[in-house]
Amino acid sequence: MRVTWTADGGVWHLTFRLDPEDAITGFCADGQPLKLATNSFRVELPRKPYDIHPDLLALAAWTVVAPWTRRRIVFDRPISAELATAIQSGWGIEAGPIGGQSRSGGRLAISYSGGADSAAVAAMLPDAPFVHFQRVSHPRVPNRWSHYRSDVLAALAGKTGRDLTVVRSDLEFTLAEPRPGYPEHHAVAAGALLLADELDLGGLAFGYELGSRWLGGDRYLRRYTPDNLMWASHGAWGRAFAAAGLHIVLPVGGVSEAVTMRIALGSTLREQVRWCLRGVSGPCGTCGKCLYKELIHAAVERRPLRTTIGPGRPVARKWQEPPPYGGQEMIEYGCARVPGIEDTAFGKAAGFLGATEASTAWLDHCYPPAIEEIPEPWRKQIRDFMDVEVGFMNEDEARRVETWGMS
Ligand SMILES: [Zn+2]
Repeated sequence: MRVTWTADGGVWHLTFRLDPEDAITGFCADGQPLKLATNSFRVELPRKPYDIHPDLLALAAWTVVAPWTRRRIVFDRPISAELATAIQSGWGIEAGPIGGQSRSGGRLAISYSGGADSAAVAAMLPDAPFVHFQRVSHPRVPNRWSHYRSDVLAALAGKTGRDLTVVRSDLEFTLAEPRPGYPEHHAVAAGALLLADELDLGGLAFGYELGSRWLGGDRYLRRYTPDNLMWASHGAWGRAFAAAGLHIVLPVGGVSEAVTMRIALGSTLREQVRWCLRGVSGPCGTCGKCLYKELIHAAVERRPLRTTIGPGRPVARKWQEPPPYGGQEMIEYGCARVPGIEDTAFGKAAGFLGATEASTAWLDHCYPPAIEEIPEPWRKQIRDFMDVEVGFMNEDEARRVETWGMS
């Protein structure tokens, strides 16, 4: 794999070329097969070019091309030995050329999506600036996803009143299959990486919560993942970001989506929180994400489900089948708390799971090891917030995390 960055005003263009051993079907760190659509993308920064450390350019490129790289990657500028070592040890990929110093920075920014998880992070870190990734169309790839309203999410981010930089990029269209999206989950940080020198960033906070960090998350099912290679501080990606002087920080990595929902809806960002990618003047109310988040929302507010989606609808089909489910801990949590759940799209799942308030109480507290892996400069602030606003899991509750998926 060979990558080349060029700058044109504030727009950075990356082109990449596969080596003979590379293949157009590769794998995301979470195991998902990914088919390449095209070999170029751009990242639009709000200001003109300035010197960007080569490690930042290299890592931004790596968040996109990693799935399709088999043996080696050649960057267009020399990278630090630290970053090359991180790529070698994390992926077994030879990276170079090597030369130059590594970088570091001081401040923490938030990779802000506008969903409940990142809004919770924002509430915990009231002084941290936001970097928001906005999808834009690619000049060479037809956009069959025009219902995805990234413009609406960017406008909502703008209404938060926070220090905000919106980075526009078409990098998601490098993916043909399964659909346009981030080749690696970390590609959402491509803009923040290119801005890290200008903003003096030493850390980037993401809204990945307990399920994504420790319980296997979405595409993984029910598996305790202390060595999660995407999000553990000692995982391949954690070490690569640290080598580039931009530590991955997961302020809500120890709490469930019920806790992030409660924090987000109790914050000043409440009116701007939006997890649905389709709605314009509000969440669409008909997509699978809306249904899943409504279950959590209703559970947090201890009220019946407000939805028109019945068990017969395609987006509800998986809840008619037996578990395991992606995000199962939250399905258990919701089914145990939402009045009248038996008569909803989750009725069948509730019957299969048999969850109770007692069996899901651990999801109301913070898993302490998640605090320990937060880099030292920001650890105390996050620990204090959790201590006051959430509370920590006791040993029995922590054991629920550490045995998740073993029964
Ligand atoms: Zn929706």
